[in-house]
Amino acid sequence: MSTCDNCGDIKLIKLFRSPYEYLQCIKYIRALIEDGGFEFVEGNCSLDEVKDKDGCWADDIIYHVIKCRMCGQVYSCCCNTYRGGGGFMKGR
Ligand SMILES: [Zn+2]
Repeated sequence: MSTCDNCGDIKLIKLFRSPYEYLQCIKYIRALIEDGGFEFVEGNCSLDEVKDKDGCWADDIIYHVIKCRMCGQVYSCCCNTYRGGGGFMKGR
């Protein structure tokens, strides 16, 4: 499945180089959903709780999947908070 006008221009990230970059990406994904063009599909924690109030990560590997409301293409964000790595990519 290819992308459409709604999702063709979203900012994907091949590899998170820092926890900060990952957190910025999570913020971006929350905005994509709040703006109404994307819907939340699944994840192993809430997008608001990748870090708890003490600043600890929700899990060693955190993932979220969203879907374009226009064409149905899915995008996944996955981060290894323990070893580093992960990204925001097309597909799942
Ligand atoms: Zn789309």
